[in-house]
Amino acid sequence: MTSAETQTEIAAAIIDAVQRASGPKPSISKEEALLQIAPHQLQSVLHEGFGDNNHDVLTSGLGASPGAAVGRIVLTADEAMMATDDVILVRDETSPADVHGMQVAAGILTTKGGLASHAAVVARGWGKPAVCGAENVQIETDHILINGERIEAGETLSIDGGSGEVIRGSLQTTKVDPIPELATLLTWADEFRDLTIRANADTASEAKIARNNGAEGIGLCRTEHMFLDEQRLPVIRRMILAETPEQEAEALNDLRESQYNDFVQLLEQMDGLPVTVRLLDPPLHEFLPNIDELIEGAARNELDEQGKALLAAAQQWRERNPMIGTRGVRLAWLKPGLYEMQTQALLDAIKNRISAGGEPSVEIMIPLTVSGQELAGIRQQIETVVEGHEALTSIKVGTMIETPRAALVADELAKHSDFFSFGTNDLTQLVFGFSRDDVESRIMGLYLEHELLDANPFERLDPTAVVELIRIGIERGRNTKPDLAVGVCGEHGGDPTSINLLAALGVDYVSCSPPRIPIARLAAAHATITASS
Ligand code: PEP
Ligand code: MG
Repeated sequence: MTSAETQTEIAAAIIDAVQRASGPKPSISKEEALLQIAPHQLQSVLHEGFGDNNHDVLTSGLGASPGAAVGRIVLTADEAMMATDDVILVRDETSPADVHGMQVAAGILTTKGGLASHAAVVARGWGKPAVCGAENVQIETDHILINGERIEAGETLSIDGGSGEVIRGSLQTTKVDPIPELATLLTWADEFRDLTIRANADTASEAKIARNNGAEGIGLCRTEHMFLDEQRLPVIRRMILAETPEQEAEALNDLRESQYNDFVQLLEQMDGLPVTVRLLDPPLHEFLPNIDELIEGAARNELDEQGKALLAAAQQWRERNPMIGTRGVRLAWLKPGLYEMQTQALLDAIKNRISAGGEPSVEIMIPLTVSGQELAGIRQQIETVVEGHEALTSIKVGTMIETPRAALVADELAKHSDFFSFGTNDLTQLVFGFSRDDVESRIMGLYLEHELLDANPFERLDPTAVVELIRIGIERGRNTKPDLAVGVCGEHGGDPTSINLLAALGVDYVSCSPPRIPIARLAAAHATITASS
């Protein structure tokens, strides 16, 4: 079946289901209408594809962010920035240093990395098509090789971020016409579902898409993404390179000002709805230029003083296993000014919104916790900043549960948390010992082919071990605090099968990237209806 037929057929099925359940004499109930449409089917009516155009697929990667994109190949973020036409940014993997190019590219193709890699997560947040972990693509200086076939930089490529297909040349994309019956179906889904659906959104523009798609709050604002535009990156680099406490304080102050403005806009967009702001999480070296490129620059004697300082910092912060290194709450212990600065920026933004007549509702979230003492100390740090601000005592402070230890000591963590949010991307990585940046492009295909796993656990929540840890985490957390609110903000929050499992565990909300919210709304309704039948 071609995707054009699929799109037409699914649109027809939605129209039929809604019409049969409507009017004075409906032939089916709303529940039956809802169950006639599988949540994943919505993807093809929500996003562009390549329809039934005949095309030879050169290779496939992971369909990391749905939608179709066509553009000229560029190999660096800077080239993408300079382009005046549509481009596909092709990188081995992306990091915060590539974000300016990712923002302007029509689509993103990476040779490494999985569904929870930087490129995948960022692209999904923006609703930009991305194919990740296409390991048969090899990047050379001025061309790429796909299964040995040479394609020059500047030639046109078409990518389908839903199917993961990579096609040489320019394909016609299929336009997606809005279906009014889909809006009706989703309103019915909202009547039946118990789970709240929030969005993973980092900026006011993402929040707007989320709200339009029906999000009932933000479950995860990754604040590091606010540091990534061209003006901000040098400031956070100044903070990392600071040689004296004064220099560090000055850089933090500049970051506070820009973050304050971002928070004001975000809270305005989500006025009246809860916004969970996660304090800084990634390893600091992610804010530095790629170390290999710096080393190459040094070897060619091309680095100026700034370049040399960046190379020294990149070497200093380099870690063998950065995803289990100096990141998350550990950063807050290492550099106490960081979370204080973010909390202060947030407080100022809340005050601004209150004086403008708004109703900001903020939750502060601490990532990658492993112990009660570690969490208590940082909570204290946050409370010291908040202290004395009467109007702000409603701010909740909670933790992510994304290490196996956190799930097991959830009773301890709940003493210092107003809510839990399960970070199932990291939890899956740490339970399996699978690197979320590497395993999907190398090993996962092989494992699925040989049926060593039933499904990719980064896509579909592992129903055995990861689900068991979530169950334990919720049970122990609620033993300490019976009314503890529990959410899930890993990518599984947008996967229908995972949503069904999470609903059964007693989770209060799931949070997913804005484009997946309609799918999550329908999946949550299915979970309630099937559980009660
Ligand atoms: C997670 O680990 O599931 C999560 C939501 O955090 P991040 O993807 O930013 O590590
Ligand atoms: Mg995480």
